[in-house]
Amino acid sequence: MSQNSARRQVVKAYCAAAEKVLERAQDTEAAEVLAFIRSHGALTKPVGSNRFTRIEDPDMTPAVMLVPYLDTMEVKHSPFAAMLRRAEALYVTQGHLHLLLLRSQVRYSPVWRACVFLHESYHARTGVYSPVNLQDSRVLSAHERDTHCFHNRLIAGCGGDGFRELLDREVAALAKEYERTGTALGVRSLLRKPALDALRQLEKLFGPAYSEEERTVRTTDLAIATSFAFFEQRAPERAAELQANFYYEHCLRRVPSVA
Ligand SMILES: [Zn+2]
Repeated sequence: MSQNSARRQVVKAYCAAAEKVLERAQDTEAAEVLAFIRSHGALTKPVGSNRFTRIEDPDMTPAVMLVPYLDTMEVKHSPFAAMLRRAEALYVTQGHLHLLLLRSQVRYSPVWRACVFLHESYHARTGVYSPVNLQDSRVLSAHERDTHCFHNRLIAGCGGDGFRELLDREVAALAKEYERTGTALGVRSLLRKPALDALRQLEKLFGPAYSEEERTVRTTDLAIATSFAFFEQRAPERAAELQANFYYEHCLRRVPSVA
């Protein structure tokens, strides 16, 4: 197989996995995000250490350059190697370029791989249609909150009743901890590490994780979904603000603006 068709296959595999997830979750926004990637995605290859060359033109512009990395050597030479070590798919902007980087090596099970791909594609769509100033951490946090709400919905949609029950249990446990400690809403200590049996329950619902990286991602995703649902339950009128602050504090390591 030529390198170009190998790259084409990688994109096809991601899109096929995403297709299954949006059908399973019955999510119209995910369908729009995937349609966006299909129409704006331009197959691209990495060249040398910091250049990208389009192999195909997209149907619609501006293009999102889809960059499949065929092997670990290509990843290693990427300017984004450090971030790709943790991520299966990653959206980055470079100047006016929109890049969606895709690892070909499968380290996540199909649902998680597709959810991460759709999460990053959601970022790409925002980057193209309504660019936000990602240097502004408040704006970035609000955008990440929206993306995580989308991501949570996909996982919940795929996990069905079993996932909803699991989430209810995790939220109840978090609420108990909150009552016990009197912690202010929206601060770091409210990120509850899911119980081991919660992670086992995820394995039952979604199949086993393929790797340690996926286990870490599943743990984080469940913790985020739990906190977001907790905020909606506890303070519905402030939930959006708390969810954004939550990201602000956890991922950007800043102090939240609300108590
Ligand atoms: Zn994100």
